[in-house]
Amino acid sequence: MRFLRLIVILTSVLICGCHKGPTSANGTVYNGFLCKACKVKFYTDSDVYADFCPQCKSVDVQGVGSYVCPADQHLTIGPRNRAGLACEQCGVVVMDMHLPVEGELKSWGAVKKSKSEVSSR
Ligand SMILES: [Zn+2]
Ligand SMILES: [Zn+2]
Repeated sequence: MRFLRLIVILTSVLICGCHKGPTSANGTVYNGFLCKACKVKFYTDSDVYADFCPQCKSVDVQGVGSYVCPADQHLTIGPRNRAGLACEQCGVVVMDMHLPVEGELKSWGAVKKSKSEVSSR
């Protein structure tokens, strides 16, 4: 009597040990937000998404992106949308948006917030 041998095929899984956040050409990117209720500007690490405003607790927070004007290189930070955003310097509608980096957010006037300040999850 013969026994069937079970062949276990081991599949090696490559696990990336690096936990670097997403970056752009300018450096590490963050999630920038603008509270529609109290107009406070803030930002979080890119893996944190704000559920409410850290100041007034409103849930009406808008994610923002960086728009660099092709005409004058002026940076305008505003709501992320498909329609683009008018350059605050010359008024040209800028379609090309990138996720903001820390320097852009700070010069915009945003303050960094931790996950516990903007999310209950
Ligand atoms: Zn607010
Ligand atoms: Zn412009």
